[in-house]
Amino acid sequence: MWLTETDLLAAAAYLKMTPSEFEEKYVYRTTQRIRLRKPPGSQCHFLSSQGCSIHPAKPTQCRLFPFWPELVEDRNEWQRTATWCPGIGQGPLIQIGTAVELAHQMRTAYPEQY
Ligand code: SF4
Repeated sequence: MWLTETDLLAAAAYLKMTPSEFEEKYVYRTTQRIRLRKPPGSQCHFLSSQGCSIHPAKPTQCRLFPFWPELVEDRNEWQRTATWCPGIGQGPLIQIGTAVELAHQMRTAYPEQY
């Protein structure tokens, strides 16, 4: 998962770590991007049997899923994602304008990605 600098600070604070401690343990940074390291045998260090263990401070990309531009703007990709994501199609109906706005937040948060 990609992180913004704000995501990194929020997750570190939530875990009561300094940003540099958090980065050293959980982050892979290149000149262009920052992302969470992926531990062996798991999709994410913070994925527990109860779900996301940093839920209140989870990264923007996680918070906005599945309203990513590549899904919101492509019906086939959306339907493909719905085959494995148990949350799609559940809960209150999200209006298309809201979905487009959330996708725009993704573009704003990760301009180098879009
Ligand atoms: S929602 Fe939480 S557990 Fe899932 S990828 Fe994001 S940080 Fe990791």
